Amino acid sequence: MRDLDAELRRRHESHLYRTRRVVDGPQGPEMVVDGQPCLTFCSNDYLGLANHADVRAALARGLERYGAGSGAAHLVNGHSAAHHALEEELAEFTGRPRALLFSTGYMANLGVVSALIGAGDSVFEDRLNHASLLDAGVLSRARFARYRHADTAHLARQLALRGGAQKLVLTDGVFSMDGDLAPLPELARVAQQAGAWLMVDDAHGLGVLGEGGGGSLEAMGLGLQQVPVLMGTLGKAFGTFGAFVAGSEALIETLIQSARSYIYTTASPAAVAEATRASLRLIRQQPWRRLRLQELIRRFRRGAEQVGLRLAASTTPIQPLMIGDNAAAVAMSVELLRQGILVSAIRPPTVPSGTARLRVTLSATHSDEQVDRLLSALEKARRVVPSS
Ligand SMILES: *Cc1c(COP(=O)(O)O)cnc(C)c1O
Repeated sequence: MRDLDAELRRRHESHLYRTRRVVDGPQGPEMVVDGQPCLTFCSNDYLGLANHADVRAALARGLERYGAGSGAAHLVNGHSAAHHALEEELAEFTGRPRALLFSTGYMANLGVVSALIGAGDSVFEDRLNHASLLDAGVLSRARFARYRHADTAHLARQLALRGGAQKLVLTDGVFSMDGDLAPLPELARVAQQAGAWLMVDDAHGLGVLGEGGGGSLEAMGLGLQQVPVLMGTLGKAFGTFGAFVAGSEALIETLIQSARSYIYTTASPAAVAEATRASLRLIRQQPWRRLRLQELIRRFRRGAEQVGLRLAASTTPIQPLMIGDNAAAVAMSVELLRQGILVSAIRPPTVPSGTARLRVTLSATHSDEQVDRLLSALEKARRVVPSS
């Protein structure tokens, strides 16, 4: 049998041990974490909707009407009028014929990829794709290839070399640990030339990018033709929970018939769907949240540059500060917390070895002063922590 204690000790020694912090109260810039009030820069609640009054009220109304649990899977009797209305609204929002709700983004990726390809097919993934897309590729049993990050020429060579009855290219729209955008127009062109389908996971783009919040695809002017499969999550900018896939009528019907992570699981609570409908309305009606976010991103980047902090090339609310060494990244995070600021240290295997970082995320609800406080805390932390 494995010696779990020894393995855990080694993990500790390499500064790779993961622990959880206990939060009390709703998401927001100021939170109580492990009993300590602090200013947070690590949530994916980019638009500040997770605790918005309209969203909370919709959740409460949904609870009154539907109760707490959905009772069964969507294909049995768990598919409520709220789920159905949300699917129609998401289809309209993304400009696609149909949308289908999944319980989580992780499950959506596993379900969609396995429903579309299998043994005898080939799947192609950006090296820095989210773990759920990589796992989906492996689980599908298709031949698996990873191309260099955002390197469309490398992808084109792999597509030309590999056979396979069906070919599927998978990419994040916005890379979750780097904040940069995938070269979607070029990926779409390369995929199309090779007769492959392109699927984009836009967990961090939807709600945030594009004038109307339509995400990376809206920002780059791409539709169903170029990107047949769009996946989005609802636990980030939408501030609630769950995920969806949007595409053609035939795609969605195929998923209902054969996506195992859709069929064999309980539908998420209908009240959550009501809450998401409220957040979708806010995303559409309040473009000022996106504009405010862009203002804060510019303020943070300008300030970071002035004090010589090493930021990644990102124009999104994900603004990683590159550190490199695992121990230094952890020490920086500990020092920031001592100053009352929570930023998480991201280490391998979430990111490649030697690229540990502080993953700063901004929200439309942060104030200018809070961003300035972060900048001076980072400057101070860098002086305290050697080799950061
Ligand atoms: C968060 C995330 C997921 C998983 O979504 P959940 O709803 O949290 O399971 C999938 N893909 C990307 C790129 C993500 O950032």
